[in-house]
Amino acid sequence: MTIKGFTGPDVPVYAEIKDCIRCGMCLPTCPTYRELGQEMDSPRGRIALIKAVADGRLSLDDPDFTLHMDRCLVCRNCETVCPAGVNFSHLMEDTRSQITRSAGNGRSIQERLLRFVILGQIFPYPARLRLLGGILRLYQRSGLQALVRWSGILQRLPGHLDSAEALLPQLSKDFFLPQPEEMPPPPVYPIRRVALFSGCIQSLIFADVNRATARVLAHNGCQVMAPPLQVCCGALHSHSGETDLARDLARKNLDAFAAAAVDAIIINAAGCGAMLKEYNHLLHDDPVYAARAEEFAAKVKDINEFLADLPLVPPQGRLEWTVTYQDACHLAHAQHIREAPRQVLRSIPGLELIEMVEADYCCGSAGIYNLVQPELSQEILQRKLGHVIDTHAQVVASPNPGCALQIQSGLRQKGLSMRVMHPVEILDRAYRQPAAN
Ligand code: SF4
Ligand code: SF4
Repeated sequence: MTIKGFTGPDVPVYAEIKDCIRCGMCLPTCPTYRELGQEMDSPRGRIALIKAVADGRLSLDDPDFTLHMDRCLVCRNCETVCPAGVNFSHLMEDTRSQITRSAGNGRSIQERLLRFVILGQIFPYPARLRLLGGILRLYQRSGLQALVRWSGILQRLPGHLDSAEALLPQLSKDFFLPQPEEMPPPPVYPIRRVALFSGCIQSLIFADVNRATARVLAHNGCQVMAPPLQVCCGALHSHSGETDLARDLARKNLDAFAAAAVDAIIINAAGCGAMLKEYNHLLHDDPVYAARAEEFAAKVKDINEFLADLPLVPPQGRLEWTVTYQDACHLAHAQHIREAPRQVLRSIPGLELIEMVEADYCCGSAGIYNLVQPELSQEILQRKLGHVIDTHAQVVASPNPGCALQIQSGLRQKGLSMRVMHPVEILDRAYRQPAAN
């Protein structure tokens, strides 16, 4: 079937397509162009393809169109250098929404099933996510994981099960639940009242990052609460073209945070933060939620951004660590936050911050990209890992769980012992060190 043009909701805005002046400045910054060397896997090439569909010269259900769109990481590296201010992520998310809705989009049955199960049946439901987390934790702790890896059985099964399994990090001993029991005691005279957005991956895999975030906020005079009915932010869904699911999740979060009379909504995951700050765009034509989404988005603060604005209570303990910082794409390119995490790290006595080359280059994680495009994701990761390793730092500071998982798995595969930590975890560790004399 040939589908001419885009239709229905989430049509890529033609004026935004035409913003591209075809200068090519984005090409060297684009990870897929650098790896594959093809114009159609560059931002400029992808915009040309989107325009061809909009003009009716190319069919929306052309499998090659889907291929080049799906290879994009939505890392937004291209937006940072674009002199015309093209909002590439909006174009790509709308385009993927169109592809997802077109039945014959060229995606394999296996990939559709993976998207349906992960995005549609697991992530929107916190209880199911925790159940899956519990099963995986049992798999790891019972010794079954070691046996499966030793047997090499996954390499003989269809799909990319072996590469997906290799990404599996150690799950947290105790998952983080957005409940009052998880919150530190409030300061006697709180200077701010804030709500913590706990995130789904963060709560299962990096639960201690959430606990460290709450402790650091309390140490800096904040009263912290976490609305219990919050759900996944919808970033994975939005990037994958599951826009209706992303909207449903956004509405649930707006309801969950509605009663929280707070000064700020704090998030420690860069990808989720970028999504939450765009709820106003996602729900801009929703008659009930548009105004609430605007108000909510204005209150969202990345933890690094929030701490750097306070000013921060200086840590008294020393950490004699060498640390390199990795700019997560969705913090640097989407939220334009680069200095704040470095400021947080530099505030720690004894800590030496070593800059890596291309610190803001994508690591290839990108939501479920490392599951649906495993080979390309690994190639992109190798470039990043090379830069990380060249610093010889003891710790890689990463402000995003997806990047932390990706880099951790790459280091593990190379048998390296560098640790990956969130900047706020490092700060929390410094606060808990005895004061230096
Ligand atoms: S830098 Fe911007 S204007 Fe130039 S080709 Fe890339 S997307 Fe188009
Ligand atoms: S978002 Fe990233 S992968 Fe996609 S076109 Fe831009 S730079 Fe390339």
